Amino acid sequence: MSDSMATHSQLECENISEMSEVFTCESCNRIFGKSRSDVDAEQELRDLWDNTTVEECVVLCDDCFAEFMAKMESQQGKLN
Ligand SMILES: [Zn+2]
Repeated sequence: MSDSMATHSQLECENISEMSEVFTCESCNRIFGKSRSDVDAEQELRDLWDNTTVEECVVLCDDCFAEFMAKMESQQGKLN
């Protein structure tokens, strides 16, 4: 997975077959149903990374995204 950009949007779903859209987490490779739209995910990306599109980033589940952001913050802390 990319070590620079990520988004998340999703909720683990027990009934994947009933979901209209699913995605695979780039980090843990589990399959999740989308709990919000790509438009919302893209808005979050812009807030986080400036002018990044969903196509350019990895999509993570909420757990992996939280880990990713914690790692980013600790890296930034070392730089400062
Ligand atoms: Zn994950």
